Amino acid sequence: MITIVSPKIYTYGSMVIGGILRDAGYNVVLTKELHANTDTVFVSLHSTLQLIDNNIKKFFGVLGGKMVFVGGPVSAYPHIVLGELSNVSCVVVGEGEEIVLDLLERGISEDVSGIAFRDDNGNIVETKKRPFLTNLTRPLPLIPGDIARQNVRGANVYIETHRGCLGNCDFCQVPGFFGQTIRSRDRKDILAEVRAFKKAGVQKIAVSGGTGSLYGYDKEEISHLLIELLRDISGITGPRNLSVPDMRVDYVNEEVLEAIRRYTMGWVFFGIESGSNSILKHMHKGISIEKAMDAVEYTRSQGVHVAGSFIVGHPFETEKDYELTRDFVEDAMLEDVFVSIIEPIPSTRFANLISDISEEDNPSFKPHTGQYSTLKLSESEARFFDLMLSAETSKPVPRIVTNQQYDALLNIARSQGEDVRAVTRLIWKY
Ligand code: SF4
Repeated sequence: MITIVSPKIYTYGSMVIGGILRDAGYNVVLTKELHANTDTVFVSLHSTLQLIDNNIKKFFGVLGGKMVFVGGPVSAYPHIVLGELSNVSCVVVGEGEEIVLDLLERGISEDVSGIAFRDDNGNIVETKKRPFLTNLTRPLPLIPGDIARQNVRGANVYIETHRGCLGNCDFCQVPGFFGQTIRSRDRKDILAEVRAFKKAGVQKIAVSGGTGSLYGYDKEEISHLLIELLRDISGITGPRNLSVPDMRVDYVNEEVLEAIRRYTMGWVFFGIESGSNSILKHMHKGISIEKAMDAVEYTRSQGVHVAGSFIVGHPFETEKDYELTRDFVEDAMLEDVFVSIIEPIPSTRFANLISDISEEDNPSFKPHTGQYSTLKLSESEARFFDLMLSAETSKPVPRIVTNQQYDALLNIARSQGEDVRAVTRLIWKY
């Protein structure tokens, strides 16, 4: 028997691996509790913060004597996983679908490609990297009985339609983890999966894959396959229960927006990141603010709601760059705005950059000395807080920020700042 542990939320990846093991004849349980009483345990970890979470560390501490495999996005930096967590037998590096079966059949050895483990002398061995999967056909996921109670940013579950992204943003793990070529799943398989989730009680489904509109992308075209896919999923879930959260401003067109309007909740969520062309260039975002503003206005003119995400605290972001971002948010009048402090995810180019920048020059450590100086924030936290306040008052129907909301935003700014500093220290350590 095998336990798959996916702490706090059932990640999509944990359900996929569960389905593969189940169909290969293994008896598998999937849990989000930190508990496993089987001899073989797979742990799915999606965030660097999980590697320094005390409860998770404690859980690994009691797994001695078992076969313990770690997979998920953190597998992109196996040295940190093996350095931070105890009792890990092996890290499944990258796309795990084939590796897990190989591992269970052949055991941990240098002959199994796509894994990392410690040898008898305690040295870390990384075996040959596996090429990206060319075929994304696989069994139905292992769907837990309480999946309908899960809520991740408004959806019960995010299902994968494709892998890879044409973008090359230096803070993002997707191009390195899944590559820059788009590999799309078969529509039949996706629909079968949607039906299975619906049968399990799921109502709200979001489709993801890095950038929603790249499903079926072929050479230089946004594909009509995306439109057909949305139409068919919507036929199962109903438009109000389907969302396509992530979009690049340079991969939307009239047909896609029409499909979003007809077959989904009618929102797009653009990764805009900054209102400064110079910062967008540093991030290798591959878009300009002019392009972003055009996309926002065009999308709105097509009757689709527009939200945008922004990142503050890049070490090269000057006060002027930040003001341009705030101006953009005020001018664009987005219906929803998500802000984050830039996080150096290990294995990304941005993490390499951060490792060479001292604490004094890193805005996530540098104390803020401007208008919020009495609040004792770092420069990144102050920009996060200020941008969130601006976003609230720049919505098409401006909101008044109550004292309670003000305090809540302040707490989020502080806790994001703390998380980013913790991840940055990890980068410096390894
Ligand atoms: S467009 Fe989105 S998914 Fe693609 S590299 Fe940039 S941030 Fe990552």
